[in-house]
Amino acid sequence: MPSTVEGFDAARTAARLPVRAGESRWVAPEVVAVYRDLQADLTRLQGEVTEANADLEDLLDDPGGAGDDQADTGSRALEREQALTMVNTLRDMIVHTELALARLVAGTFGVCESCGEPIGKARAQAFPRAVLCVACKQREERR
Ligand SMILES: [Zn+2]
Repeated sequence: MPSTVEGFDAARTAARLPVRAGESRWVAPEVVAVYRDLQADLTRLQGEVTEANADLEDLLDDPGGAGDDQADTGSRALEREQALTMVNTLRDMIVHTELALARLVAGTFGVCESCGEPIGKARAQAFPRAVLCVACKQREERR
């Protein structure tokens, strides 16, 4: 695998990315793999959000017939809410994916935003959008 993609220097990033004690250093092909995964996610998510948006607009455009009973009105409201939630969730995922890519390019990928310690290479590979180490994540969840 090449160590450079689209002007992004994976070898330089690999040299800068932190690892936890006992983990091997990042190497360029691993960085490229994460980068490509995130890029592929981004492309997929952008397609999904476009579709979800179209669904939502269809639902919003449909005024419902005069003959609709209350149950229909209720289920349409629920459908709209679900479509809106879907769009928001996808938009959130896109933002987090873009941020992960930016961190990778900047060489700050894999650093815990809370304590500044390495998130860990294994965790960063499994959850490339993670911004907290396991300890900080657990602390946050207990709150
Ligand atoms: Zn932390």
